Amino acid sequence: MLAARAACTLEQSIQRLVLASDQNLGHLERQAAQDVQELLRQSVQRGAQAKADATPPVCPVCGHQLSRLSSGHARTFQTRFGPITVERTRGYCKRCRKWRVPADAGLGLEESAGYSPAMQDMVALLASKMPVEEASTVLEHLTAIKLPRATLDREARRQGERAQALRKQLDAQAATEKKQLELTLEPYQMIIQLDAWNIRERDDWGQSQAMRRKGQEPERWHWVYTGTCFRLDHRGQTAGGRPVISERGFVATRAGLDALREQLHAEALRRGLGQAAGALIIGDGAAWIWRLADDRWPQARQRLDCYHAIQHLAAVGRALFGEDKARLKAWLKPLVQQLRNDSSLKVVRQLEEILVPLPAGAIERAVAQEVEYFHEHQERMDYRAGRRAGEPIGSGPVEATCRQMQCRFKRPGQFWSLKGDEALMCLETFWRNGRWHLLFPHTAFNPARN
Ligand SMILES: [Zn+2]
Repeated sequence: MLAARAACTLEQSIQRLVLASDQNLGHLERQAAQDVQELLRQSVQRGAQAKADATPPVCPVCGHQLSRLSSGHARTFQTRFGPITVERTRGYCKRCRKWRVPADAGLGLEESAGYSPAMQDMVALLASKMPVEEASTVLEHLTAIKLPRATLDREARRQGERAQALRKQLDAQAATEKKQLELTLEPYQMIIQLDAWNIRERDDWGQSQAMRRKGQEPERWHWVYTGTCFRLDHRGQTAGGRPVISERGFVATRAGLDALREQLHAEALRRGLGQAAGALIIGDGAAWIWRLADDRWPQARQRLDCYHAIQHLAAVGRALFGEDKARLKAWLKPLVQQLRNDSSLKVVRQLEEILVPLPAGAIERAVAQEVEYFHEHQERMDYRAGRRAGEPIGSGPVEATCRQMQCRFKRPGQFWSLKGDEALMCLETFWRNGRWHLLFPHTAFNPARN
Protein backbone atom coordinates (compact mmCIF):
# COMPACT_ATOMS: atom_id res chain seq x y z
CA MET A 1 0.00 0.00 0.00
CA LEU A 2 2.64 2.46 1.13
CA ALA A 3 5.01 1.11 -1.52
CA ALA A 4 2.40 1.70 -4.21
CA ARG A 5 1.87 5.26 -2.99
CA ALA A 6 5.61 5.94 -2.96
CA ALA A 7 5.92 4.58 -6.49
CA CYS A 8 3.06 6.84 -7.58
CA THR A 9 4.61 9.95 -5.98
CA LEU A 10 7.92 9.10 -7.57
CA GLU A 11 6.25 8.82 -10.99
CA GLN A 12 4.72 12.29 -10.52
CA SER A 13 8.13 13.71 -9.61
CA ILE A 14 9.52 12.28 -12.85
CA GLN A 15 6.71 13.88 -14.87
CA ARG A 16 7.40 17.20 -13.16
CA LEU A 17 11.10 17.00 -13.96
CA VAL A 18 10.35 16.45 -17.64
CA LEU A 19 8.09 19.52 -17.78
CA ALA A 20 10.11 21.92 -15.60
CA SER A 21 12.78 23.68 -17.64
CA ASP A 22 14.48 24.99 -14.48
CA GLN A 23 15.01 21.52 -12.98
CA ASN A 24 17.81 19.08 -13.73
CA LEU A 25 18.58 15.54 -12.63
CA GLY A 26 19.79 16.83 -9.26
CA HIS A 27 16.28 18.00 -8.46
CA LEU A 28 14.93 14.54 -9.19
CA GLU A 29 17.62 12.82 -7.14
CA ARG A 30 16.74 14.95 -4.14
CA GLN A 31 12.98 14.59 -4.65
CA ALA A 32 13.16 10.82 -5.21
CA ALA A 33 14.98 10.33 -1.91
CA GLN A 34 12.25 12.36 -0.21
CA ASP A 35 9.44 10.45 -1.96
CA VAL A 36 10.58 7.05 -0.67
CA GLN A 37 11.77 8.27 2.73
CA GLU A 38 8.58 7.32 4.58
CA LEU A 39 8.47 3.92 2.91
CA LEU A 40 12.04 3.27 3.99
CA ARG A 41 11.41 4.58 7.51
CA GLN A 42 8.44 2.27 8.01
CA SER A 43 10.25 -0.72 6.50
CA VAL A 44 13.21 -0.16 8.80
CA GLN A 45 10.86 0.16 11.78
CA ARG A 46 9.12 -3.10 10.84
CA GLY A 47 12.48 -4.83 10.48
CA ALA A 48 13.76 -3.48 13.79
CA GLN A 49 10.59 -4.65 15.57
CA ALA A 50 10.81 -8.12 14.03
CA LYS A 51 14.46 -8.37 15.07
CA ALA A 52 13.60 -7.21 18.61
CA ASP A 53 10.80 -9.81 18.84
CA ALA A 54 13.14 -12.56 17.66
CA THR A 55 15.88 -11.76 20.19
CA PRO A 56 16.06 -14.52 22.85
CA PRO A 57 15.72 -13.34 26.47
CA VAL A 58 19.33 -13.92 27.50
CA CYS A 59 21.79 -11.45 29.01
CA PRO A 60 23.82 -9.85 26.18
CA VAL A 61 26.82 -9.52 28.51
CA CYS A 62 27.10 -12.94 30.19
CA GLY A 63 24.62 -15.11 28.28
CA HIS A 64 22.61 -16.01 31.36
CA GLN A 65 18.85 -16.55 30.98
CA LEU A 66 16.93 -13.41 32.02
CA SER A 67 14.09 -13.55 34.55
CA ARG A 68 11.16 -11.26 35.51
CA LEU A 69 10.53 -10.53 31.84
CA SER A 70 8.21 -7.70 30.83
CA SER A 71 7.46 -6.62 27.28
CA GLY A 72 6.31 -3.43 25.60
CA HIS A 73 9.18 -1.15 26.61
CA ALA A 74 9.10 1.42 23.84
CA ARG A 75 12.21 3.21 22.68
CA THR A 76 12.31 5.84 19.97
CA PHE A 77 15.50 6.58 18.11
CA GLN A 78 16.75 8.36 15.05
CA THR A 79 17.61 6.28 11.99
CA ARG A 80 18.99 7.15 8.59
CA PHE A 81 15.36 7.54 7.39
CA GLY A 82 13.82 9.32 10.37
CA PRO A 83 12.73 8.40 13.90
CA ILE A 84 11.32 4.92 14.61
CA THR A 85 9.87 3.34 17.73
CA VAL A 86 10.54 -0.24 18.80
CA GLU A 87 8.94 -2.15 21.67
CA ARG A 88 11.39 -4.36 23.52
CA THR A 89 11.41 -6.93 26.27
CA ARG A 90 13.25 -6.23 29.48
CA GLY A 91 14.54 -8.82 31.95
CA TYR A 92 16.74 -9.20 34.99
CA CYS A 93 20.14 -10.93 34.88
CA LYS A 94 20.78 -12.59 38.21
CA ARG A 95 24.43 -13.16 37.40
CA CYS A 96 25.19 -9.52 36.48
CA ARG A 97 22.53 -8.24 38.89
CA LYS A 98 21.34 -5.81 36.25
CA TRP A 99 18.25 -5.15 34.17
CA ARG A 100 18.91 -5.94 30.54
CA VAL A 101 17.23 -5.23 27.21
CA PRO A 102 18.71 -7.86 24.89
CA ALA A 103 17.03 -6.38 21.78
CA ASP A 104 19.13 -3.21 22.15
CA ALA A 105 22.32 -5.24 21.82
CA GLY A 106 20.90 -7.13 18.85
CA LEU A 107 19.98 -3.89 17.11
CA GLY A 108 23.30 -2.22 17.95
CA LEU A 109 21.79 0.53 20.10
CA GLU A 110 23.27 -0.02 23.52
CA GLU A 111 26.07 2.55 23.31
CA SER A 112 23.92 5.31 21.90
CA ALA A 113 21.60 7.88 23.38
CA GLY A 114 19.05 7.24 20.67
CA TYR A 115 20.77 6.82 17.35
CA SER A 116 20.77 3.84 15.06
CA PRO A 117 24.12 2.30 14.07
CA ALA A 118 24.06 4.05 10.67
CA MET A 119 23.54 7.38 12.45
CA GLN A 120 26.29 6.62 14.98
CA ASP A 121 28.60 5.84 12.08
CA MET A 122 27.84 9.07 10.19
CA VAL A 123 28.06 11.26 13.27
CA ALA A 124 31.36 9.72 14.39
CA LEU A 125 32.89 10.08 10.95
CA LEU A 126 31.75 13.66 10.37
CA ALA A 127 32.77 14.88 13.82
CA SER A 128 36.22 13.32 13.54
CA LYS A 129 36.76 14.95 10.14
CA MET A 130 35.39 18.47 10.67
CA PRO A 131 34.26 20.90 13.37
CA VAL A 132 30.85 19.97 14.81
CA GLU A 133 29.05 23.07 13.58
CA GLU A 134 30.11 22.20 10.04
CA ALA A 135 29.36 18.50 10.60
CA SER A 136 25.80 19.35 11.59
CA THR A 137 25.23 21.37 8.41
CA VAL A 138 26.90 18.81 6.15
CA LEU A 139 24.81 16.01 7.65
CA GLU A 140 21.60 17.94 7.04
CA HIS A 141 22.64 18.80 3.49
CA LEU A 142 23.49 15.21 2.59
CA THR A 143 20.74 13.31 4.44
CA ALA A 144 18.06 15.91 5.34
CA ILE A 145 18.47 14.82 8.97
CA LYS A 146 18.65 17.74 11.39
CA LEU A 147 20.94 17.16 14.34
CA PRO A 148 21.82 20.16 16.52
CA ARG A 149 25.56 20.58 17.02
CA ALA A 150 25.44 19.95 20.78
CA THR A 151 23.62 16.65 20.20
CA LEU A 152 25.98 15.67 17.43
CA ASP A 153 28.97 16.56 19.61
CA ARG A 154 27.67 14.44 22.51
CA GLU A 155 26.94 11.42 20.33
CA ALA A 156 30.32 11.65 18.57
CA ARG A 157 32.09 11.71 21.93
CA ARG A 158 30.10 8.72 23.08
CA GLN A 159 31.27 6.85 20.00
CA GLY A 160 34.82 8.03 20.66
CA GLU A 161 34.67 6.69 24.19
CA ARG A 162 33.41 3.38 22.83
CA ALA A 163 36.35 3.41 20.41
CA GLN A 164 38.77 4.02 23.30
CA ALA A 165 37.36 1.05 25.22
CA LEU A 166 37.65 -1.15 22.14
CA ARG A 167 41.21 0.05 21.48
CA LYS A 168 42.18 -0.91 25.02
CA GLN A 169 40.76 -4.37 24.46
CA LEU A 170 42.49 -4.78 21.06
CA ASP A 171 45.81 -3.54 22.47
CA ALA A 172 45.64 -6.04 25.32
CA GLN A 173 44.95 -8.80 22.76
CA ALA A 174 47.88 -7.73 20.59
CA ALA A 175 50.24 -7.88 23.55
CA THR A 176 49.34 -11.48 24.45
CA GLU A 177 48.53 -12.92 21.02
CA LYS A 178 51.09 -15.22 19.50
CA LYS A 179 51.03 -14.59 15.79
CA GLN A 180 51.34 -17.56 13.49
CA LEU A 181 54.79 -17.44 11.96
CA GLU A 182 54.61 -17.25 8.20
CA LEU A 183 57.51 -19.42 7.14
CA THR A 184 57.65 -18.33 3.52
CA LEU A 185 58.04 -14.71 4.56
CA GLU A 186 61.09 -12.79 3.44
CA PRO A 187 62.78 -11.14 6.43
CA TYR A 188 61.69 -7.53 6.79
CA GLN A 189 62.45 -4.49 8.94
CA MET A 190 59.79 -2.69 10.97
CA ILE A 191 59.97 1.09 10.75
CA ILE A 192 58.59 3.10 13.69
CA GLN A 193 58.43 6.90 13.51
CA LEU A 194 57.54 9.31 16.31
CA ASP A 195 56.70 12.98 16.53
CA ALA A 196 54.52 15.36 18.54
CA TRP A 197 52.34 18.40 18.02
CA ASN A 198 50.34 20.45 20.47
CA ILE A 199 46.67 21.05 21.02
CA ARG A 200 44.84 23.79 22.90
CA GLU A 201 42.49 22.83 25.70
CA ARG A 202 40.30 24.70 28.13
CA ASP A 203 39.39 22.15 30.78
CA ASP A 204 39.72 24.82 33.47
CA TRP A 205 37.93 27.49 31.45
CA GLY A 206 36.80 30.46 33.52
CA GLN A 207 39.09 29.53 36.40
CA SER A 208 42.22 31.19 35.06
CA GLN A 209 41.99 34.11 37.51
CA ALA A 210 41.46 31.86 40.50
CA MET A 211 44.32 29.58 39.42
CA ARG A 212 46.69 32.49 38.93
CA ARG A 213 45.87 33.76 42.41
CA LYS A 214 46.97 30.37 43.71
CA GLY A 215 50.18 30.80 41.76
CA GLN A 216 49.28 28.23 39.07
CA GLU A 217 49.45 29.14 35.44
CA PRO A 218 46.60 27.36 33.64
CA GLU A 219 47.98 24.95 31.07
CA ARG A 220 46.39 25.42 27.65
CA TRP A 221 48.76 23.70 25.26
CA HIS A 222 49.38 19.99 25.51
CA TRP A 223 51.40 17.49 23.51
CA VAL A 224 49.67 15.04 21.23
CA TYR A 225 52.14 12.20 20.80
CA THR A 226 51.93 10.65 17.39
CA GLY A 227 53.47 7.54 15.92
CA THR A 228 53.33 5.53 12.76
CA CYS A 229 54.72 2.10 11.91
CA PHE A 230 55.08 0.06 8.78
CA ARG A 231 57.07 -2.78 7.28
CA LEU A 232 59.91 -1.66 5.07
CA ASP A 233 58.75 -4.03 2.32
CA HIS A 234 55.38 -2.25 2.32
CA ARG A 235 57.06 0.95 1.24
CA GLY A 236 57.33 1.53 -2.48
CA GLN A 237 56.79 4.01 -5.26
CA THR A 238 53.94 4.86 -7.58
CA ALA A 239 54.49 4.75 -11.34
CA GLY A 240 55.08 8.50 -11.07
CA GLY A 241 57.85 8.01 -8.52
CA ARG A 242 55.85 9.23 -5.52
CA PRO A 243 56.70 7.25 -2.35
CA VAL A 244 53.79 5.21 -0.98
CA ILE A 245 53.32 2.91 1.98
CA SER A 246 50.71 0.27 1.28
CA GLU A 247 49.98 -0.72 4.88
CA ARG A 248 50.62 1.54 7.79
CA GLY A 249 49.58 1.83 11.44
CA PHE A 250 48.76 5.09 13.21
CA VAL A 251 48.63 6.17 16.83
CA ALA A 252 47.84 9.61 18.24
CA THR A 253 47.20 10.29 21.89
CA ARG A 254 46.94 13.19 24.26
CA ALA A 255 47.08 10.83 27.24
CA GLY A 256 50.86 11.08 27.76
CA LEU A 257 53.99 9.14 26.89
CA ASP A 258 52.98 5.95 28.69
CA ALA A 259 49.81 5.81 26.62
CA LEU A 260 51.77 6.38 23.42
CA ARG A 261 54.30 3.70 24.31
CA GLU A 262 51.67 1.03 24.94
CA GLN A 263 49.43 1.99 22.02
CA LEU A 264 52.28 2.21 19.52
CA HIS A 265 53.81 -1.05 20.69
CA ALA A 266 50.46 -2.81 20.26
CA GLU A 267 50.02 -1.24 16.83
CA ALA A 268 53.54 -2.31 15.79
CA LEU A 269 52.80 -5.86 16.97
CA ARG A 270 49.61 -5.90 14.88
CA ARG A 271 51.65 -4.72 11.90
CA GLY A 272 54.20 -7.51 12.36
CA LEU A 273 56.86 -6.26 14.79
CA GLY A 274 56.99 -9.68 16.46
CA GLN A 275 58.08 -11.36 13.20
CA ALA A 276 60.38 -8.57 12.00
CA ALA A 277 64.09 -9.24 11.50
CA GLY A 278 64.75 -5.89 13.15
CA ALA A 279 63.26 -2.52 13.92
CA LEU A 280 64.31 1.04 13.18
CA ILE A 281 63.08 4.06 15.13
CA ILE A 282 63.15 7.43 13.36
CA GLY A 283 62.43 10.80 14.94
CA ASP A 284 63.67 14.34 15.35
CA GLY A 285 66.06 15.34 18.14
CA ALA A 286 63.43 15.43 20.92
CA ALA A 287 64.79 13.66 24.00
CA TRP A 288 61.50 11.90 24.83
CA ILE A 289 61.67 9.97 21.56
CA TRP A 290 64.98 8.35 22.38
CA ARG A 291 64.11 7.71 26.01
CA LEU A 292 60.95 5.96 24.88
CA ALA A 293 62.83 4.00 22.22
CA ASP A 294 65.49 2.83 24.72
CA ASP A 295 62.78 1.85 27.13
CA ARG A 296 60.26 0.10 24.85
CA TRP A 297 62.35 -1.15 21.93
CA PRO A 298 65.91 -1.45 23.31
CA GLN A 299 66.95 -3.80 20.47
CA ALA A 300 65.86 -1.40 17.74
CA ARG A 301 68.24 0.79 15.78
CA GLN A 302 67.74 4.56 16.09
CA ARG A 303 67.98 7.19 13.38
CA LEU A 304 67.74 10.96 13.59
CA ASP A 305 65.59 12.51 10.89
CA CYS A 306 68.12 13.66 8.29
CA TYR A 307 66.40 16.97 7.66
CA HIS A 308 66.72 17.90 11.34
CA ALA A 309 70.45 17.10 11.25
CA ILE A 310 70.81 19.35 8.21
CA GLN A 311 68.99 22.15 10.03
CA HIS A 312 71.55 21.91 12.81
CA LEU A 313 74.37 22.07 10.26
CA ALA A 314 72.73 25.19 8.87
CA ALA A 315 72.64 26.65 12.39
CA VAL A 316 76.45 26.33 12.53
CA GLY A 317 76.65 28.03 9.15
CA ARG A 318 74.48 30.92 10.30
CA ALA A 319 76.62 31.37 13.41
CA LEU A 320 79.74 31.55 11.21
CA PHE A 321 78.53 33.59 8.23
CA GLY A 322 75.59 35.55 9.63
CA GLU A 323 73.50 37.04 6.83
CA ASP A 324 75.97 36.14 4.06
CA LYS A 325 73.64 33.64 2.36
CA ALA A 326 76.01 32.89 -0.53
CA ARG A 327 78.90 31.87 1.73
CA LEU A 328 76.53 29.92 3.97
CA LYS A 329 75.22 27.99 0.97
CA ALA A 330 78.69 27.29 -0.40
CA TRP A 331 79.84 26.03 2.99
CA LEU A 332 76.72 23.95 3.70
CA LYS A 333 76.33 22.10 0.39
CA PRO A 334 79.38 19.79 0.56
CA LEU A 335 78.73 19.07 4.24
CA VAL A 336 75.14 18.04 3.54
CA GLN A 337 76.34 15.76 0.75
CA GLN A 338 78.93 14.26 3.01
CA LEU A 339 76.36 13.70 5.73
CA ARG A 340 73.91 11.99 3.38
CA ASN A 341 76.29 10.03 1.16
CA ASP A 342 79.48 9.54 3.06
CA SER A 343 80.10 9.60 6.78
CA SER A 344 78.60 11.63 9.58
CA LEU A 345 81.83 11.09 11.51
CA LYS A 346 83.75 13.14 8.92
CA VAL A 347 81.17 15.92 9.26
CA VAL A 348 81.52 15.97 13.03
CA ARG A 349 85.32 16.08 12.75
CA GLN A 350 85.04 19.15 10.54
CA LEU A 351 82.72 20.86 13.00
CA GLU A 352 85.18 20.13 15.81
CA GLU A 353 88.00 21.63 13.74
CA ILE A 354 85.93 24.77 13.22
CA LEU A 355 85.24 25.04 16.93
CA VAL A 356 88.81 24.69 18.27
CA PRO A 357 90.30 28.02 17.07
CA LEU A 358 87.13 30.09 17.77
CA PRO A 359 87.63 32.74 20.48
CA ALA A 360 85.23 32.53 23.42
CA GLY A 361 81.97 34.35 22.69
CA ALA A 362 78.54 34.06 21.15
CA ILE A 363 79.70 32.39 17.91
CA GLU A 364 81.80 29.90 19.77
CA ARG A 365 78.91 29.07 22.12
CA ALA A 366 76.50 28.59 19.21
CA VAL A 367 78.93 26.28 17.37
CA ALA A 368 79.77 24.38 20.56
CA GLN A 369 76.09 23.74 21.15
CA GLU A 370 75.69 22.24 17.69
CA VAL A 371 78.85 20.15 18.01
CA GLU A 372 77.39 18.75 21.19
CA TYR A 373 74.16 17.96 19.31
CA PHE A 374 76.11 16.07 16.66
CA HIS A 375 78.07 14.17 19.30
CA GLU A 376 74.85 13.20 21.02
CA HIS A 377 73.23 11.89 17.85
CA GLN A 378 76.37 10.56 16.11
CA GLU A 379 75.16 6.96 16.29
CA ARG A 380 71.80 7.94 14.82
CA MET A 381 73.22 9.42 11.61
CA ASP A 382 73.96 6.31 9.56
CA TYR A 383 72.37 7.84 6.48
CA ARG A 384 74.64 6.25 3.93
CA ALA A 385 73.99 2.74 5.26
CA GLY A 386 70.29 3.53 5.52
CA ARG A 387 70.06 4.69 1.92
CA ARG A 388 71.97 1.66 0.69
CA ALA A 389 69.56 -0.61 2.54
CA GLY A 390 66.62 1.21 0.96
CA GLU A 391 65.45 2.50 4.33
CA PRO A 392 63.91 5.92 5.02
CA ILE A 393 66.38 8.44 6.42
CA GLY A 394 63.72 10.93 7.40
CA SER A 395 60.54 10.96 9.43
CA GLY A 396 58.41 12.43 6.64
CA PRO A 397 55.48 9.98 7.01
CA VAL A 398 54.86 10.75 10.68
CA GLU A 399 55.32 14.48 10.09
CA ALA A 400 52.72 14.31 7.33
CA THR A 401 50.35 12.53 9.72
CA CYS A 402 50.88 15.25 12.33
CA ARG A 403 50.14 17.94 9.77
CA GLN A 404 46.95 16.22 8.66
CA MET A 405 45.73 15.82 12.21
CA GLN A 406 46.48 19.43 12.99
CA CYS A 407 44.28 20.45 10.06
CA ARG A 408 41.35 18.98 11.98
CA PHE A 409 42.31 19.56 15.59
CA LYS A 410 44.09 22.91 15.48
CA ARG A 411 41.81 25.42 13.83
CA PRO A 412 41.65 29.09 14.75
CA GLY A 413 39.56 29.71 17.84
CA GLN A 414 39.32 26.00 18.58
CA PHE A 415 39.58 24.73 22.14
CA TRP A 416 39.32 21.16 23.33
CA SER A 417 38.89 19.23 26.51
CA LEU A 418 41.12 16.25 27.23
CA LYS A 419 38.12 13.93 27.15
CA GLY A 420 36.84 15.39 23.90
CA ASP A 421 40.04 15.45 21.88
CA GLU A 422 41.19 11.99 22.97
CA ALA A 423 37.80 10.51 21.99
CA LEU A 424 37.75 12.07 18.51
CA MET A 425 41.42 11.29 17.88
CA CYS A 426 40.69 7.68 18.74
CA LEU A 427 37.94 7.65 16.09
CA GLU A 428 40.35 9.19 13.60
CA THR A 429 42.95 6.48 14.24
CA PHE A 430 40.35 3.72 13.88
CA TRP A 431 39.52 5.20 10.48
CA ARG A 432 43.14 5.53 9.40
CA ASN A 433 44.05 2.07 10.64
CA GLY A 434 41.24 0.49 8.62
CA ARG A 435 39.34 -0.67 11.72
CA TRP A 436 36.19 1.39 11.32
CA HIS A 437 34.21 -1.80 10.70
CA LEU A 438 35.14 -3.05 14.16
CA LEU A 439 33.23 -0.12 15.60
CA PHE A 440 30.44 -0.17 13.04
CA PRO A 441 30.10 -3.75 11.80
CA HIS A 442 27.50 -2.76 9.19
CA THR A 443 30.19 -0.89 7.24
CA ALA A 444 32.50 -2.99 5.14
CA PHE A 445 34.32 0.14 4.01
CA ASN A 446 38.01 0.21 4.80
CA PRO A 447 39.66 3.52 3.88
CA ALA A 448 43.11 1.99 4.26
CA ARG A 449 42.33 -0.26 1.28
CA ASN A 450 40.56 2.23 -0.90
ZN1 LIG B 1 24.48 -11.04 32.68
